[in-house]
Amino acid sequence: MRVLLIEDDAAVAAGVTEGLRNAGFQVLHVASGTEGAQKATEADGPDLVLLDLGLPDVDGYDVCRSIRAVSQVPIIVISARDDEIDRVVGLELGADDYVTKPFGIRELVARIRAVTRRTGAEAPVGKSPDVQHLGPLTLDRRSQRIHVHGAEVALTATEFELLSVLAEDPGAVYRRTELLERVWSTSLYVTPKTVDAHIAAVRRKIGHPDWIEAVRGVGFRLETPHA
Ligand code: CA
Repeated sequence: MRVLLIEDDAAVAAGVTEGLRNAGFQVLHVASGTEGAQKATEADGPDLVLLDLGLPDVDGYDVCRSIRAVSQVPIIVISARDDEIDRVVGLELGADDYVTKPFGIRELVARIRAVTRRTGAEAPVGKSPDVQHLGPLTLDRRSQRIHVHGAEVALTATEFELLSVLAEDPGAVYRRTELLERVWSTSLYVTPKTVDAHIAAVRRKIGHPDWIEAVRGVGFRLETPHA
């Protein structure tokens, strides 16, 4: 699934691009409204458009309007303006949804899924890439192998799945209950302590306990050093 990101803020664009790529999307980023409107309406255009409203050259609403004049591609407006009027105007101009900054990648992916479900767009979304590089940590979901600093580390299937879920949104906190649901969905005899025990095993095996941070009373997050 190809996403066109129209966003002039380089930091936001980098975060969104990386996050969506980790979630299995192809991302094309442009920083101007003119270029965005053009890319969005090309013959071999994107499957979905993420449109920032505050662009340097053209107002985001005008970009939305000009895309809608010729294309039914799903559009999600992303904006720093959390204003009911903006929201309504955006949706009236044909945007499919509206996300307010700051937002998390998981929220954005959930919105993309919801929009593509509604619009019937082909959405093989949510599939993480086969091979994911997170600084010194590499995950290969196809072969269920991980490498740390280039050396393979053997994990059990459950440990791998746990790490794989955390790696879907690095830096984001995953609740124990969410991890239980994702990793142990079919098993009745697990408790939050099960998560803790497996986290401990993964930490020990990868040799960098600090990469998986416990957030007191909430859950865990994966934070590897940048390459
Ligand atoms: Ca902007």
